[in-house]
Order: sequence, then C-alpha cells, then structure tokens
Amino acid sequence: MTMVFRSPLTRTIAYANTGGYAATALKLAGFDALEIRGRSDSPKYVLVRGGEITLLDASPLWGKGANECIKLLKSKHGDVRVLSIGIAGENKVKFANIVNDAGRSSGVRHGAGAVLGDKRVKAVVIAADYSLRVPIANREKFMDLLRRLNSKIRGSPLLNRVTGLFSIYGTPLAVNPLNRFEALPFRNYTKTSFEGAAQLSGEKMNGTILISRLTCNSCSVQCRRETVGVSRYSFRTEGPDYAQISSLGSNCGVGDLEAVAYMNYLCYELGVDPIETGNILAILAHATERGLVAQDQGLRWGDVERMVELIRMISTKTGIGGILAEGAPSVSQALGDPSLSTAAKGITIQNADPRVEYGWGLLNATDNTGASAHIWVYPDLIYSFIDLLGEKSLVARIALNEYDKLASAVRYKQDLVAVLDSLQICAFSNMAYDLEDYVEALNVVTGWNIDRDELLRVGERIFNLERLYNEANGIVDDTLPTRFLSDPVPSGKNMGRVFPLKELLYNYYSVRGWEAGRIGEPKLKELSLT
Ligand code: SF4
Repeated sequence: MTMVFRSPLTRTIAYANTGGYAATALKLAGFDALEIRGRSDSPKYVLVRGGEITLLDASPLWGKGANECIKLLKSKHGDVRVLSIGIAGENKVKFANIVNDAGRSSGVRHGAGAVLGDKRVKAVVIAADYSLRVPIANREKFMDLLRRLNSKIRGSPLLNRVTGLFSIYGTPLAVNPLNRFEALPFRNYTKTSFEGAAQLSGEKMNGTILISRLTCNSCSVQCRRETVGVSRYSFRTEGPDYAQISSLGSNCGVGDLEAVAYMNYLCYELGVDPIETGNILAILAHATERGLVAQDQGLRWGDVERMVELIRMISTKTGIGGILAEGAPSVSQALGDPSLSTAAKGITIQNADPRVEYGWGLLNATDNTGASAHIWVYPDLIYSFIDLLGEKSLVARIALNEYDKLASAVRYKQDLVAVLDSLQICAFSNMAYDLEDYVEALNVVTGWNIDRDELLRVGERIFNLERLYNEANGIVDDTLPTRFLSDPVPSGKNMGRVFPLKELLYNYYSVRGWEAGRIGEPKLKELSLT
C-alpha cells in the first residue's frame, strides 16, 4: 500500500510504502486508489466495501492506540484490512505514522499519520471481495511468467524462502556487513561501527526474540519479522526492521535487541515513526553529552528507560516532547546547535553513513522525499553489500572515485524505483528480478507493448515531476547535513573521509540532463512535462 501526500515534516511530496495486504484488498473492494480530501468536523473512519465508501463515526476510537484501534475495527467488521493512526497522529506530531494491519508501518516516515489526524480520520477499513478477479490481458503468458519469476526467486541466494539470507534474517541482515565495512550509524553518526552490533543483528534476532516470519500478499520471501518480549519487556509486534534497529539501537548507543523491539512496538502503538524517533533521540543524547541540555531534561546514550519516557512525551507533545515532535532541524536549532541535525530536506538520513557509502549519500541528497531512502530498496548501491549481492551489485564494478558511474547508477535506480513504487511492486524483488522481468509483467497483465527504455522513461518522468512539485513549493536544495560534508569520519578504516557532494552533484546533474540542478526547458520538453 502506497500513501502519497505532502509531508508536514519535509514539505516535499512524500510517499509511504508499507507492503502488506491492504493494496490488494482495496483493488478487490472495487478501487485502484482512494483520495481523501478536506477535513471532518468530528472523528471519522473510512469504510471501503463493495465498491462503496462510507464515513463512519470514530469518536469512541479517538485517543486509542493504533494497534488497539485496528483490533477493535477488525472485531466489528470481520475479515478486513485496517490502517490506523495512533495518538501521535491525532496530536499532529510531524513524523506520526499510519499503522497497516497488525503493526506493519515500516517505511511510513513523512508524517502520513499527522495528515490523517489533521483530517480527523482515525482509520481506513477495507473489505475485499475475494471472489473478484483482477483482469489479465494474457493469462497463459502470465502463468508462464509467474513460473519463471518464481524460479528466479528460488534461485536467489538472498530471496529463496528456505536458504536465502534475506529471507532467513530479514532486513536486520544488514547489521553485520555495515558494521564490518564501518558504515553503521552509531551515536548520532559520531562513529561508523559499534562493538555491540552483533547483539542487534538478524542472526541474534533469530535465536532470541523472533517467533515467526511474516509476508505480504502472494510473496514467498517472508522477510518480515514478528517478535515477542522474552525477559524484561512484554510485547508482540511486527519488526523491528534494520532501519529501526540502527535508529533506536546503534544510533542511540543501545545494544539490547529486545529493548529496541519493545521501543519499536511502542512507537507503532502510539503512532510515531520509530526511525525518525530514534534519530531525533540520538540528537538529544548528543546535545546532552555536549552539555547543551540539562541532564534531567536530556538523554544519556543507551538509557532505554528514558527513551521509553521520551517516546511517550513525543506522541503527546508533553514537555520536551513538544520540541522533539517538530523534527530534527527544529530540535537541533532549539537545542542550540543546528550542526547536530542529520536531516536532509527535513528528514533524518537512516541506515548508513554517507561519508563511507557515497552512492547512499548521493541518493539521499537528491531524492525528492528527502533523506528517507530504505537501504534494501537500493542494496546494489551499497559497497558494504557487494559480497551479499554478487553479480546483482551495481557498485561492485565502480570505484569509489568514479563519480560519473556512481551518479549514473543512482539515477538508474531512482527511476526504476519510481516505476516499481507506482506499480505496487516490492522493490526488494530487484535482488532477483531484472528490468526486463518488470517490462514483461506489465505487458502480459495490461496487454501493452512497451520496452525497457520506455519503462525507464516513465520512471524518469515521475522523478522529474516530483521534483517540479518540490520546486513549485520552493524546495530546491540537494545536500546533506554539513557534518557529513566537513566533519571527517573520526576513526577506523574510513578515517578522514567526508562526502564529496560537489563532485557527485556535478556528475549527477549531468546524467540527469539538468542545468545547474534545475530541470530546464529542454528536459521538460523531452519528457513532455511542459
Ligand atoms: S520481499 Fe517485499 S513483498 Fe515479500 S515479504 Fe518482504 S516486504 Fe513483503
């Protein structure tokens, strides 16, 4: 399920992709998309059923946690899919999220929950009619294609359900390679490795808090995790994914996986994005360490008890939580040192240090939604993953100083992902599928006859159109926080490296056909965007 909106956090165009089953349910309820306009006077929820949309009273649900609300609506409406906000969305926390079914909200980072909260919409309930069939132009070819694609997944060393490393360990598979390569966010990006990293890894999760692997509609990969508290915490939840582990965990100096999973659960229940929350708490801990915040107002590295308290305060905008709820640039400004922020276009960079992973840095500096990319959507741009990806790695053949090639690879992936997101195809599939597979799939389902260049051109058009939207709203900066540009990695094997923004942007604008970062008339004409 993809949600598209203007972000209250970044003011850019934003989309949030949460996977799961809701998108299929919407199609089988009779709709390709649902557009919510305006604002209600009183709390409502939206019921989509049998080709009809109804607004129903949500007053009894207002003030409830997201998962609790989902449970109540499921018990009322039966076999339905539910997307709900928590109290953070009701309070318009700028990075409030929307929880999709049972705790699935990974990827919802831009404050989609605040947008629904502002509209006074607590939830969307979707009742699918599973007797309906989606029309397919060429069913015979479609079945052949399915067999071929399934065999590609089975043959993948990452995505095979039984032997694939990504299937076995999920997104937390990223922890150890990034730590070994020394690209892991640690203590607000002041270091690039963490001696407690193994305790946060997918391997560790499998032997401790993992109780099952979950999946999305018709996907054999099962990369999603379900975890439970086994000693100090009581919870049962989806996740945490690698992004939450690196944000609430290593970036805050926490090496306790069960504690990270509990905080992730709490964020879902209250309805805040755990990734932004973790990275903002890391800024607070950094400021506290520097003496910019009184100890009783601040946070010590690794202090889980205080983090839990602060997560609650953020969702209700209580005390210092009211400042933290405004997002990283406002927080670091209010704390007296804007350089503590790790945000680009208003949202904090996640997953990896851009001073070590240059492709990652360029992607996050130029993406239309700010620094919010998901590392497993772009694993082929990550040097730390070359051994894992093998021949699927794009950077395996690119030296770190080959800026033109790196810029081309970033542009290619951005355009491809724009298409995949629009088609509702999980981008993780690109670890097994090739561009030609997506082209063929689109053709056999729709009866069209497009080729790979045309498909990529659609992606380029989407990417440029998003940029035009941002430009129209005065958002034109392609950059990363100054600390990644001027503060070298302080220690370890990557010591001394900074992110070469100027050189990479020069090459990136050139491969995009932009003039000094602006799209320009010739490109607009070429893409029929005038
Ligand atoms: S690979 Fe994608 S579709 Fe499959 S379970 Fe993972 S997130 Fe869901």
